[in-house]
Amino acid sequence: MADAVVVGSGPNGLAAAVLLARAGLEVEVHEAADTVGGGCRTAELTRPGYRHDVCAGAHPLAWASPFLRAFDLAAHGVELLTPEASYAHPLDGGVAGVAWRDLDRTVESLGRDGAAWRRLFGPLVRDWASLVDLAMSDLRHPPLDVATGVRFARRLLEQATPLWNLRFHDDAAPAMFTGVSAHAIIPPRAFSATGVALLLASLAHAGSGWPVPRGGSQAIVDALAADVERHGGRIVTGHRVDSLAEFGGARAVLLDTAPTELLRLADDRLPPRYARRLRKFRYGGAACKVDFALSGPVPWQAEGCDRAGTLHLAGTRAESVAAEKAVAAGEYAERPFVLAIQPGVVDDSRAPAGGHTLYAYAHVPNGSTRDVSAEIIAQIERFAPGFRDLILDRHVRTAAAMPAYNANYVGGDIAAGAMNLRQTVLRPTPRWNPYGTPLPGVYFCSSATPPGPGVHGMCGLHAVGHALRDRFGITTDPLTLLRNESPHTH
Ligand SMILES: Cc1cc2nc3c(=O)[nH]c(=O)nc-3n(C[C@H](O)[C@H](O)[C@H](O)COP(=O)(O)OP(=O)(O)OC[C@H]3O[C@@H](n4cnc5c(N)ncnc54)[C@H](O)[C@@H]3O)c2cc1C
Repeated sequence: MADAVVVGSGPNGLAAAVLLARAGLEVEVHEAADTVGGGCRTAELTRPGYRHDVCAGAHPLAWASPFLRAFDLAAHGVELLTPEASYAHPLDGGVAGVAWRDLDRTVESLGRDGAAWRRLFGPLVRDWASLVDLAMSDLRHPPLDVATGVRFARRLLEQATPLWNLRFHDDAAPAMFTGVSAHAIIPPRAFSATGVALLLASLAHAGSGWPVPRGGSQAIVDALAADVERHGGRIVTGHRVDSLAEFGGARAVLLDTAPTELLRLADDRLPPRYARRLRKFRYGGAACKVDFALSGPVPWQAEGCDRAGTLHLAGTRAESVAAEKAVAAGEYAERPFVLAIQPGVVDDSRAPAGGHTLYAYAHVPNGSTRDVSAEIIAQIERFAPGFRDLILDRHVRTAAAMPAYNANYVGGDIAAGAMNLRQTVLRPTPRWNPYGTPLPGVYFCSSATPPGPGVHGMCGLHAVGHALRDRFGITTDPLTLLRNESPHTH
């Protein structure tokens, strides 16, 4: 039996396996699906030659996360392509707020709200690395950078309270901010959603912005999986783990799974109090995903949208808030919040010559069985008249169908657990060490632990820190395992 077993091969499971293998341990990864990658896969969902990102599509955290920075995706052959605009937020009337990668250009384009945008983001963009270290920590041992902490807290207290409209005069800038906070799929003025927005919107103007990997998100997880194997690790696909008893001899088992999966895997071995806490874990708002094969680029009405990688299609701040509140109340918004990604703005490898792909999902209530393609198409048409005529094919995955694809997305919750304030900090249960469980040697390493969802590998890194120390007596900082080695030395 291997020294360490990882259940699940999402970005966090693979990050954990990379580190364990580089620590010299014998590692096995067991993945239920037939391919590695979890929420970071790319597939020809519609037609041959049309490559769609099945889940994650835009990757601000892939260049910014401490784990992936140290891993060095570029050295492993992954090319992150940066759109000129990280995201755009069209409004009725043929105008849009555009978050150009260049902060100055964004400030200029926002007219009388430009200065307010600079005051909100300028200091965070300048010190983006400190902001990332704070947000990507285990939320128990944040780095001691008081200045960044204070800057972040001041902005949080403004944008998460009734003060949030005070600095803005027009519609575009507040709509842009709210569009980013909606990534958390909870009502936008919540503290956790605002924290997500401050991080992601700052990264839009820093480093590689909101890039897409050439060829698709799969490139990221393929690079991690190759590194695991290069360091002697073994990856088994097509094996859904049903019991921890399968790995009786392993000294550590790391679960890249939903928290409630442990209730199934532990065969009644969990102490009743801990099992009760896991049962209390809440899954949140969900997504219905639609991927389009198109015969041409989307005919956006507003200037700048044609150069943005990501688009938030929701109208004004008030409209986004209403749509997200409906979802939180278990209802459907007539005009849902739609997040779209058009990788073709920088990557011509996603479709045959002349063709394009468009990625879109709408927020819907957890467990929804409804195909909301019609509502998604209507939101796109609203800002890009003529879009409908370009559709060659589409692939729909409802929220209810999501867990059959990836068991972590319970009821279609793509964050693997509601991102309310409590569950952002205390995920999966209220414990000082959120990665450990009462079962010796069994750890969580999925996005159901801090720092939460996204393709960054940091949940894997933090979990491995505990496993190495507790189970193998290795006290090295796991990040150092990634340094001083070329990917081609083995
Ligand atoms: C539609 C959608 C859009 C998204 N968009 C973005 C985006 O643009 N940018 C971004 O950064 N993030 C995005 N995310 C979030 C991101 O994909 C996830 O946060 C991330 O993949 C979490 O990684 P993970 O390793 O924790 O888990 P996952 O990637 O979910 O992987 C978990 C893996 O474990 C496997 N597994 C579970 N149970 C078992 C078992 N019992 N036995 C064996 N295997 C098991 C699953 O099959 C899966 O492969 C999106 C997610 C979705 C669904």
